Amino acid sequence: MARPAKAIINLSAIQRNYSYARGLGQQHGGKTVMVIKANAYGHGATEIAQFMDKTVDMFGVASIDEAQQLRAHGVCAPILLMEGCFDQSEWAQAQVAVTDVVVHNQLQLDQLSMLNTAQPLSIWLKVDTGMHRLGFSLTEAQTALAQLNSLAQVKQVILMTHLADADNGNSDITQQQLSTFKALCELPVDGISIANSASLLFWPDARAHWNRPGLMLYGVSPRTSQQQVTSDLQAAMTLQSQVIALRTIQAGESVGYNCRWTAQKNTVVATVAMGYGDGYPRNASNGTPVMLHGKRVPLIGRVSMDMLTIDVTDVANVAVGDTVELWGKSLSVSEVASHCDSNSYEMLTRLAERVKKQFITD
Ligand SMILES: *Cc1c(COP(=O)(O)O)cnc(C)c1O
Repeated sequence: MARPAKAIINLSAIQRNYSYARGLGQQHGGKTVMVIKANAYGHGATEIAQFMDKTVDMFGVASIDEAQQLRAHGVCAPILLMEGCFDQSEWAQAQVAVTDVVVHNQLQLDQLSMLNTAQPLSIWLKVDTGMHRLGFSLTEAQTALAQLNSLAQVKQVILMTHLADADNGNSDITQQQLSTFKALCELPVDGISIANSASLLFWPDARAHWNRPGLMLYGVSPRTSQQQVTSDLQAAMTLQSQVIALRTIQAGESVGYNCRWTAQKNTVVATVAMGYGDGYPRNASNGTPVMLHGKRVPLIGRVSMDMLTIDVTDVANVAVGDTVELWGKSLSVSEVASHCDSNSYEMLTRLAERVKKQFITD
């Protein structure tokens, strides 16, 4: 029998989440980039892009090879290269694989000016309004825009920025970034783009011509404690496995490596085929919730490479072969992450290759 650890990916949920995101943006006349970098946040970029190809306004990827992989599998929709090209040679590849390319520094702009003009590209001019990671400064942006407008390699220019703290509702820096960027938006460009998931959900002023949600499309709220928003989104991934062993231990006996958890009373321990080799975090603490028979049970003891252990004393009729849900519909990945010194982005993207994906629609 194959290893029972698997990730069930509900493509219909992703489609509904995309419609919801697009609805938020459309109130402001906006279009929606479906961000599917990092293998669609661990959900499987190729399968998702094939399913969503006719629906989306555009896909967003982090590197040219991510775009090439989609094209190799027949994906036709426009694609945005969100960090732009990493060297001169990638520009010619970009002309074949993508439609839209971010330019965030002068080096990229100079490379673009040396490119052949056969296949003009839409350029997203990235401005640093406070994240201080990528982008031209406000003063540089005006010069860069003038240069872009003079190039035959450029079909149109979208002005973009990225917010550093949009998942925080009382964020001063977000207000500052938005007003700083607003001043620039007086410049003659073909579009504006600001919002990722958190900005799209929580900062209506950030909604613009193009929005760029990622995480929310997979049914995960960027705010751990946002019940209301979470109810509008549907978790796309259910990570599950099975109980592969059961035993009862006595008070005073310990479980797993380094005896991290010791029983206070007689305890029924179920061993589950899921470990850090599958991407489940090794530092998940005692008490991290796991779903069994529709009930939350606590993880106990250290997570090992291929297995973890849970306390099932309070669940009736547990048997080897029973399905266990690590996260999904009934247990959000954000909540699990909060027990693991991690967040949902990291948990999803580090799901290991060996966890088989099963794609479903409903
Ligand atoms: C990853 C990314 C996004 C999507 O962010 P989410 O928080 O997942 O919605 C949007 N814009 C840029 C530039 C990104 O790198």
